[in-house]
Amino acid sequence: MGAAALAELIRRRQPCVVLTGAGVSTESGIPDFRSPTGLWAQFDPFEYGSIDAFRRDPVKVWSFYKPRIGMLTGAEPNPAHAALAELERIGLVEAVVTQNIDLLHDRAGSREVVEVHGSIRTATCPGCGERVHLARVLELLAEADVPACPSCGGILKPDVVFFGELLPAEEIDRAFDLARRARLLLVVGSALEVHPVAGLPLETLSAGGELALVNRGPTPYDSRASLRIDGSAGEVLPALVEALRGEPGIG
Ligand SMILES: [Zn+2]
Repeated sequence: MGAAALAELIRRRQPCVVLTGAGVSTESGIPDFRSPTGLWAQFDPFEYGSIDAFRRDPVKVWSFYKPRIGMLTGAEPNPAHAALAELERIGLVEAVVTQNIDLLHDRAGSREVVEVHGSIRTATCPGCGERVHLARVLELLAEADVPACPSCGGILKPDVVFFGELLPAEEIDRAFDLARRARLLLVVGSALEVHPVAGLPLETLSAGGELALVNRGPTPYDSRASLRIDGSAGEVLPALVEALRGEPGIG
């Protein structure tokens, strides 16, 4: 499976930064929305996931997001999330940059998480700027189809990046900085198709770093990776932790 080779690479090339995509969360029961059977195959992204759609008809967009937030908060971190938190704890992963909005890295115990597509942690009122935490959003959604702003009554928007919105500048700057300084960028569960996150490996490679890929299916960077494992995150990452434990000095 290549876990031993990956263990050797991660020990040799520090600091290591991890980039995760939807493939890390599929084993938590969260479908990859870009897959042929994913959410955007059922819901037109421009009708449900774009900022224009939200401005036009926030009630319709919330008819999609309400069950989605319920599903995300009901999901549990899987062994891939736990393995990444463990790798950070033992000092072999500096940070996790994620395209996922589901908070599962956070809930698994990862400390340095850069959420480049935002997250469901908060929602913000487009009218007055009031920011509301997830627990309160869930309370509001238990009573109504849309969460109303406690300050002005406007309809809150989840702080996830919608189509047509810019990525959060601070997070994306931090992600590029981490990628530039990484001697190893380990990409897990991302097909590296969504820009600008798909540009992070190039940042690492240009600065003399190496690239390792753990993904089911091909990516545009396959030929430039030092190591590529075609497998599931939930199997490969725990095997990686086991392989590292087998080495002296890691407990
Ligand atoms: Zn408001």
